[in-house]
Order: sequence, then C-alpha cells, then structure tokens
Amino acid sequence: MSDLIDTWASEPLATLERESLRRKLEPLESPVGARVRIDGRELINFSSNDYLGLAAHPELVKAAHTALDAHGVGAGASRLVVGDTTAHQSLERALASFEGTEAALLFNSGYAANVGALAALFGPGDVLFSDALNHASLIDGCRLSRARVVVYPHGDVEALESLLRENPGRRRAVVTDAVFSMDGDRAPLKALREVCTRHAAALFVDEAHATGVLGATGRGLCELEGVTPDVHVGTLSKALGSFGGFVCGSTALRELLLNRARTLIFSTALPAAVCAAAERALELVREGSARRNLDTLRAQLGAKSSAIFPVMLGSAENALRVSAELREAGLLVKAIRPPTVPEGTSRLRIAVTAAHTTDDVTQLLAVLERSGAVRASAVHTGTGDEERAGVGRRA
Ligand SMILES: *Cc1c(COP(=O)(O)O)cnc(C)c1O
Repeated sequence: MSDLIDTWASEPLATLERESLRRKLEPLESPVGARVRIDGRELINFSSNDYLGLAAHPELVKAAHTALDAHGVGAGASRLVVGDTTAHQSLERALASFEGTEAALLFNSGYAANVGALAALFGPGDVLFSDALNHASLIDGCRLSRARVVVYPHGDVEALESLLRENPGRRRAVVTDAVFSMDGDRAPLKALREVCTRHAAALFVDEAHATGVLGATGRGLCELEGVTPDVHVGTLSKALGSFGGFVCGSTALRELLLNRARTLIFSTALPAAVCAAAERALELVREGSARRNLDTLRAQLGAKSSAIFPVMLGSAENALRVSAELREAGLLVKAIRPPTVPEGTSRLRIAVTAAHTTDDVTQLLAVLERSGAVRASAVHTGTGDEERAGVGRRA
C-alpha cells in the first residue's frame, strides 16, 4: 500500500467521476465475436475491431494450437537475441507478399510499430506533418522522435501544402491514419501522395482500420486508391483477429528499423502462436468471403467509408446515457469520451463486423432511432467528404 500514490490518485479520479469521464473494465466471459457474454448476459457486440470476425475463428485457433505445440507459449527473449522463430519469419514473408512490398517487420503491437518506426526514422532537424485526428500512437511516435511536429487540419490537403512550403527541414514526412479510428472517415491518400511527391516528403500511412476491410484484395485504403506509401504500418490485432503490429516497405527500411527501433529491440518477441494465427488470417482475407459479407452489412448500416459508424452525442453524459439504453436492449455499444475524442464530441462508435447478421443491424438501427440518438445527432455517414473543423485532438 502506498499512501502517497493513493493521495495523488484520489483527486483526479474524483474529477473524472464528476465529469462522466471515469472508465471501467468489463470482463468478457466468452470469446470476442458478434455476441459476447458479460456478467452472465449475452449482448450483441458492436464495439470490437474484429472486423472480419476472425478473433475466435476455429482456423486461427487451430493455427495457434499447432504453433503452441511447436514453439511453446513465451518467446523468451527479444527477436534480436533468441526470440526469433520460423513462425515470425514466415509471417513477415506472408505480410510482404500480401502488401506487395519488398519486406515487412513485426512489432509487438500497432502502437509499438508507430512509436518505434517514427522515433527510429526521424530526429531533431526533421519535420513531421501530422493530421489533427491522428491516432495516439502516431502522436506519441512523433513526440518521441524529437522532430518538429506540425499538426495540419484534419484531411485538409491545401492547408498541408502551405505548411510544407513554410516549414523546411532535413527530412520531412506526412503522417496519417488511412481510416480515422474514431470517425471512420478516410484520409485523402491520393492527394496526400501527390503533395508529398511535390515537396520531397515521405508518406507514412497507418492502415490499422483499413487492412482487411478496404481494397480489392483487402490490403487497405492504399490499395483502394492505388497509392504507394513510403512507410505502411498495420496491425494484426483488428481485422486480422490476432495480435501485434507490422511495418511494410523496402528491405532497407526493414534493416534500419531492425537495428534502430527501440520498441522492437528492447521488448520480448511476440509469441509464435499469435504469428501463426495472423498468417492463417491473411489467407482467409485473401479468400475474401468475410469482406464481402462485411460490405453488405456496412451498406445496410450506412457506413460508407469503413466499418466504423460514429453517432455523435456531444457530452460524455449523453453518450453514457444512450449507451446504457442500448445495453438495456441487449446491444453493446461503448461510449467514446475525451481524451479519446475531442471535448464535446463524445459519441457511440459502432463497429460492424462480418460476423454480424442483417437482423443484428436492423435491431441496432431500430433501437438507435427509438432512443432519438440517430435523429438528434446528425449522424455523419462517414463519406469522408464533410468539411470538419481541424481541431487538434491530443496533439
Ligand atoms: C488501434 C490502432 C493502433 C494500435 O494498434 P494495436 O495493435 O492495437 O496496438 C494504431 N493505429 C491506429 C489508427 C489504431 O486505431
């Protein structure tokens, strides 16, 4: 027991409680999926990033079991020491082949991939141009690099180009989510690629919510838009149903990160079992049936840009209230509040997956309408076209 820490903790916790911002854990008693059990009750789950319904898929479980028998549970060391296995190497070859790049490098999470890659590639004297709604892991990677960070208004290519003109630097890169995690809209990747090329800046794209969801073969928004980024980051933990992160690009990029990225060098390697499961997931993504099912459900829900459909509710209190109403009706849709989203933009973040049914979505839409949330909130349907204020979030 630390009296000192308890004293320090009590005031911020009381403030969070008062502002409806305190967060709580809720353990699942079931595998994650379209239906989950919490506290003995089955709920239809619209809050996971398991977009293709693969997290508890029998084929992934089987692949993990086989690797567990072959390699054991823990990796025992970082990859550069003795934590590397044939399962890691095999997955990296599969990722490079899937993404159509020379090479791929695994990280222990998407978060670690962004932080490790940005901090390894950039430093003092460099300038990073970062979208105002970028994910926290990109923001943290930019900060940790000690490059100068210039935040540009969300999706605003014209403003970005002016900033590129005004901010010279040794090395420069534009850093962006492909699909924005809490809004579900898309970065204007084609225009960003053109601007980067014009100004000799690299394009660093995080495909966390697009891998497996967008593109003719599920490679993401870059594939859909025909854009080749300089650095392509993805996660194995969302549509791929497993765990871990990766960076795809040239062989030189892989070699540099292997030698320089601190989140890779100073952390134990991923367990072989999660690598084997992710490799099986890539094969299922290639096969394509889950993505086609997801496309149908997205259309029914009106989620045009991605599998994410935000219902804006303003205050944290409002978001909690509507979330509780949905829970009463057997629907699990967690409220998303600051600091995950900017002040005054608390929301329900609905994520549809290939494991849902059209009945699930019909039920969700009916309950949302009954609660008044849909009409009251000017649901933005994620076309990616809307003009939105370029307010900085956590930036
Ligand atoms: C979830 C997420 C990450 C982090 O990926 P993890 O594998 O969960 O650590 C990175 N970037 C974006 C945009 C994300 O939404």
